[in-house]
Parts: sequence; C-alpha cells; structure tokens
Amino acid sequence: MQEFIQKLQDLIGIAHVLTDQQAMQPFLREWRGLFAGKAQAVVFPASTQEVSSIVKLCIAYAIPLIPQGGNTGLVGGQISELSNGVVLSLKRMNRVLDVDAQNNTLTVEAGATLHAVRAAAESADRLFPLSLASEGSCTIGGNIATNAGGTAVLAYGSMRASVLGLEVILPNGEILNIMSHLRKDNAGYDLKQLFIGSEGTLGIVTKAVLTLAPRPKAWAAAWCAVASPEAALILLKQMQNNFAQELTTFELMPKIGVEMVARHIPNAKTPLQNDSAWHVFIETSSSRSAAQITLMPELEQAITAAFDKNILQDAVLAHSEAQRVHFWHIRESFSEAQKHEGGSIKHDVSVAVAHIPAFIAEASAAVCALFEGARPVPFGHMGDGNIHFNISQPVISNTSDFLAQREAVNACVHALVRRYHGSIAAEHGVGRLKRALLAQTKYASAYALMQQLKQALDPQNTMNPHAVL
Ligand SMILES: Cc1cc2nc3c(=O)[nH]c(=O)nc-3n(C[C@H](O)[C@H](O)[C@H](O)COP(=O)(O)OP(=O)(O)OC[C@H]3O[C@@H](n4cnc5c(N)ncnc54)[C@H](O)[C@@H]3O)c2cc1C
Repeated sequence: MQEFIQKLQDLIGIAHVLTDQQAMQPFLREWRGLFAGKAQAVVFPASTQEVSSIVKLCIAYAIPLIPQGGNTGLVGGQISELSNGVVLSLKRMNRVLDVDAQNNTLTVEAGATLHAVRAAAESADRLFPLSLASEGSCTIGGNIATNAGGTAVLAYGSMRASVLGLEVILPNGEILNIMSHLRKDNAGYDLKQLFIGSEGTLGIVTKAVLTLAPRPKAWAAAWCAVASPEAALILLKQMQNNFAQELTTFELMPKIGVEMVARHIPNAKTPLQNDSAWHVFIETSSSRSAAQITLMPELEQAITAAFDKNILQDAVLAHSEAQRVHFWHIRESFSEAQKHEGGSIKHDVSVAVAHIPAFIAEASAAVCALFEGARPVPFGHMGDGNIHFNISQPVISNTSDFLAQREAVNACVHALVRRYHGSIAAEHGVGRLKRALLAQTKYASAYALMQQLKQALDPQNTMNPHAVL
C-alpha cells in the first residue's frame, strides 16, 4: 500500500494526500455522529485531470473511492467504511467559473459551496434557488449527487431542475463532458440525469452548468396557526390558487416542535401565542417590478380570506425583514432543538400531498402504540409532500431504551410509507443508512435496472461501494 500512497502523492503532491488518522477524522465522521469511518487516505485534487488520474490509479490497485463534498449528507453516503478506502474531497475545486446573466447560467466547479454559488448569482442580480440550512458547507457536487431539495422546491423544483450540464469522471477514469448550456436538447438520452441523485456511485461530478432565475424583488411572509394538517392542506390549495409559482415556501410544523425551538434556541420566540396544534410558515416572493408594493397586501388579503373561511385560527405577517428572518430562524432550528430533547428517531419520507394528513395521523398513532409517551414531531415541506417524520423520546425515559426501538419504529413508519405508495428517501437520499430499505421498497424491476446500470458503468465496484445499492 505504501506504493499506492506514493503514487497518489506523485499525482497531486504530498501536501494534498492525508494519511494521518487524526488529521483525517473531520472527513471520516459526519455531523450527526451516526457513522465513524475508516480510510487509508483522504485526497484533495485540484483539477478534472487530477481526479481522472486518481480514479485510474484506484482501479489499478482495486481501491474503493468515496467522493465527498461538504460532508453534510444525512445518510452516510460520503463516509468511507473500508480501511483501504480513499476519500476524494472536492474542496479545492471550488471556483465559480462563469456567470452569464444573459443566458441565465452559472458554470462552477463541484467543490464550490452552495453559499458561494448563491452569492455569485446574487452579484449578477440573479437567483440560484436551491436553499438548504447547510448552504455554508454543502457543495454543488454534493447537491447534484443527492438531488438536494430544501425549502424552495415548491416553486423551483429540486436540484435536478437547476442542472443543464455536467462534467463527470466515470468509474473507469474517463472524462465525460456533457457541459451543455442548452435548455432544449432532445438529441439522444439525457445522460446528466443518470448522475443527478446517484450519490457518487456512478461517477464523480467535477463541474456543472446551472440555471439561474430572476432575483425576487420582494418577499412576504406569514406565520399561521391551524387546527390540523387537514386545514393546512386546504390552506395550501388556497395559497397555490392565489400565488401559483410565487408561493415559494409552505412549511408545516407541529406546536410541540415550535415549543421545543422556543425552549432551546436563543432568540427564537414563538411568533403566535395560540393553542392551535399546528403551525404553517408561508412565504411568497416575486420578481415582478410592482411586487414591492403589491405582494404584502396580496398575502394579507389571502390570509384574511382564509381566516374568514375558518381555515386559519390565527396568523401574523412579517412586517419587517428582521421578522421574516426570525420566522426562518425558527423553522431552520427544528433539528437543533430536537437534539436538546433527548434521543430522536428520524425519517425523511414523502407521500402524495393529499395523503399527508392521514399519513401523519396513522404514523403518529402507530409509533405511540409501539412506545408509550413517544413524541412525534412531524414537520417539513408540505407543499412537496415531504415530511420529516421525527419522533422524540418520551419526557421521562431512558434515551438508550428509546433508541433501542429504532428498528421497530422504522419498520412501522416505512410500512406505512409503502402502503401510501410513498418514498422512504424523499430528499436526503439512500446512502449507507437506507441501503437495505431500498432493496425492500423498490419494485423488483426498478431495483434490478439500477443494479444493471451500476454494473455497466462500474463493473469493478470502485465508486462508492456499499452506498445506495
Ligand atoms: C443542517 C442541515 C440541513 C440540511 N437540509 C437539507 C434540506 O433541506 N434538503 C436536503 O435535500 N438536504 C439537506 N441536508 C443534507 C445535505 O446538506 C445535502 O444532502 C447536500 O446536498 C450534501 O452536500 P455535500 O456537499 O455536503 O455532500 P456530501 O455530504 O459530502 O456527500 C453527499 C453524497 O454525495 C456524494 N458526492 C459528494 N460530492 C460529490 C461529487 N462531486 N460527485 C459525486 N458524488 C458526490 C457523496 O459520495 C455522498 O454520497 C441538510 C444537512 C444539514 C447538515
């Protein structure tokens, strides 16, 4: 193996090959602490050519290669669990190469953070719409590899909708250049779709061409109280009818979760003093030139209409930018707040939007029957049918007793997801965490086709083995 490491060092320079176990730790552990990885090296190439050479070297020595971006993934896909594995970090390939405000495109290296891309778009008076709480660390390559979702999918779609072209290093080390700037191109198979959401198992994304949108000129936000997810569903439909694409956020939260945030997160006061069991955060945004004047009254009018029809129990509008930011602060603090409430068991699932109320009711009842006192905290992107079905341990109980029930709770929630023809991996992906579940939940023909694709592209199983499949 010394010979292999020596060759890696020759390829990209000794300073860019980590082998010290202590120094490698930040790249072997993920932030939730669910996976503690092992590897013989972490490498930091600086160019497409270097990535290609590393892949070829790994094939020659039969070394597993694990692509990594910002290491913010929530399903362990970026973690090497093999002691002979090599983690390939894209961190040094982080340049925004071009912003074309006329064509509404941005060309970028895969290791640029989402934050840097959003900032580059903004400086050209454009919007890159993907929005995640991890934007300061996660990278465009990771966003593409996971087909990331987030809070703006309702209006702009998930990452897939923002990708026009890619440069990918295939598992045999060849450079695949499909860096299209075109919005229409039906000349043959749309190969980029193979790599978007493939979680580093079919190739390493090194560059991308992304689409930009007009930058919103105005935002309006409201925090609402509703009696039930059924009422939230009616509210969603009304807001979609009123605002169409200008409805950019519709997030459902249970009162128990909002209270957890108020209890544990500094400066996160609950916007409404109300006994309603559910809260909804709505945001509209518009790039129309008149929006600065019209958007807020339009939202106010829609909220009043919903109130008059008894869909809403209470609501408050954000009357300042600080208040709007405060609403976001509460919503984005959900996961952090839950950490302070002891153990939690989490599920990132989706069902058809219309099934959300029934799914939440049935899943909550089922987990409470399984573990007395368990506290369901289902929240998330209601407009996309994506619920983070998280369960906090009972107030008085032993954390390890609760977490010991993880498998049983997962089985119960995922069985219900299957009954509703939903997905066990709505936006975070499969990674290592849900690999076994994928095999159990996909139609056999779809799963077999995935295996055939993997076999065709990566017959030696070098690229992120044991992730996804
Ligand atoms: C606080 C927080 C909030 C989050 N919110 C959301 C959310 O709202 N929606 C959402 O979808 N996700 C969310 N995530 C999850 C995570 O941020 C996303 O999955 C993100 O897209 C991962 O990007 P990354 O660069 O960190 O990738 P990594 O974690 O490094 O890797 C993720 C996967 O992509 C692969 N990969 C990484 N880079 C490449 C590349 N260049 N080529 C090929 N494969 C690659 C890895 O092998 C791995 O399988 C959140 C995470 C955190 C910590």
